Amino acid sequence: MTLSHAEFQALAARLKPNGKAFIDGTFCEAADGSVFETVNPATGQVLAAVAHCKAADVDRAVAAARRVFNAGTWSRAEPEERKEVLLKVARLVRENAHELAVLESLDTGKTISDCLDEIGGDVPNFFQWYAELADKTFGKIAPTGPGAMALITKEPAGVAGAVLPWNFPLVMAAWKIAPSLAVGCSAVIKPAEQTPLSTIRLAELMQQAGVPDGVINIVPGFGETAGKAIGLHNDIDTVSFTGSTEVGRMFMRYSGDSNLKGVGLEMGGKSPFIVLEDARLTDDLIEHAAMSAFWNGGQNCSANMRQLIAAPLVEEFTGRILDRVKAFQLGDPLDPETDIGSMITRDHKDMVMNYIQSGMDDGAQMIAGGDSDLPGYFIAPTVFQNVTPDMKIAREEIFGPVLGIMPMKSAEEALTVASDTDYGLHATVFTQDIDRALHMARSLPCGTVSVNGFSEGDIKTPFGGYKQSGSLARDNGTEALEQYLQTKTIWVQTAVG
Ligand code: NAD
Repeated sequence: MTLSHAEFQALAARLKPNGKAFIDGTFCEAADGSVFETVNPATGQVLAAVAHCKAADVDRAVAAARRVFNAGTWSRAEPEERKEVLLKVARLVRENAHELAVLESLDTGKTISDCLDEIGGDVPNFFQWYAELADKTFGKIAPTGPGAMALITKEPAGVAGAVLPWNFPLVMAAWKIAPSLAVGCSAVIKPAEQTPLSTIRLAELMQQAGVPDGVINIVPGFGETAGKAIGLHNDIDTVSFTGSTEVGRMFMRYSGDSNLKGVGLEMGGKSPFIVLEDARLTDDLIEHAAMSAFWNGGQNCSANMRQLIAAPLVEEFTGRILDRVKAFQLGDPLDPETDIGSMITRDHKDMVMNYIQSGMDDGAQMIAGGDSDLPGYFIAPTVFQNVTPDMKIAREEIFGPVLGIMPMKSAEEALTVASDTDYGLHATVFTQDIDRALHMARSLPCGTVSVNGFSEGDIKTPFGGYKQSGSLARDNGTEALEQYLQTKTIWVQTAVG
């Protein structure tokens, strides 16, 4: 059931967002009592005063997480018990999906339809999928001679930290919380300072579902304060970070400067959308091309901003993309008809507008989009043609609604240009030739290659980046569990063969 614009507005008016930290089962202020405001970027309205957690609060959260981990209440509980509780979290998220989606839309400027897709579908599905894995993950027995039995067992890593970005707040929280709790870790989570509200509301639902005190802790705050304190904490065993490559590097350093905790990094991208000469320019292809660049207003790590199009197809492709772009509706994120919402902050809008200016200065032609005069931080879906690989807009992550068309003479040129980047998160390839599709997929140095459609895969498939888009860690799939597990060998000498 989807609500109308007026019903979503009414729901928004009734919300009373909780801005407290959640430490050891209690919603609380920061130790020093300080707060920061979180605002609706589409309107500038202040939504809540949020506890501004710092190192002292992270210490309290980690102490609680460690205490409960050592007590074994959750970490050594029967896997079926953890499964039941996490299944209940999934149920509660589904039951509260409309309210959570409105909260997310207000805090991010994302469209309500995207928020509902994520919170009515993806988020509870993550909890359900990892809950179901809790009692289906086995160890191994190594081959030995008759004098020994060698068990290879997996144990929860301990206290897991997670530091999250603002572009998919609750999805990212679920990506980290569901697998870490399923295997028995306790967790300390820092949502992005721009978007803490849905993660705090999730903590309320997790408590209602029966997650024991101290197993999940939420410490809202800024990178320099709460984020850094997590990275440098000597009693956090593993940290999972999603955000920019610049900050990801810091987490490697934090680990080296503290207790050598495990570090899982999911970072930026500059992903190509490749259309080879034999591809048919169907409506489906055009839809995928547009959505790959403009979904979530382009504020997406796997956005396929660089569109590498076989030269003979460029003219028709460009015309049809322009038609599609005209149909995008920009505006009130709470209107179910809206396709593209607001940029997250004024600073972020300014940064994207600077990239748009640099595209024009470097000689690319802007044929659609640019600034919007709507109040809030809106940018119209922007299309550049004649983008060349050396331009700044072709090299750096823009993280906004910008699509650049780059004509390619051959598949090999597309492969060379696509690979010539420090990033390696995602690529899309369109071709009717299965051999060329597999050649491209095997050759592209990135974590996900999507063939004949733009997709990041789903919960069952690992997601993460090559090169400076990620560490070797992956989110999603059974691979995500590895971020939160230790491997132990138990070698048993046996007297009788
Ligand atoms: P960001 O790196 O600025 O912030 C991410 C998180 O790190 C926030 O919680 C922030 O408070 C924290 N942080 C900032 N400075 C810190 C510091 N000095 N020490 C510790 N923590 C610090 O990124 P962002 O602006 O929130 O998100 C956008 C970026 O995230 C983009 O580059 C995007 O590509 C990337 N991203 C990647 C994925 C993925 O899965 N690969 C998914 C979403 C977003």
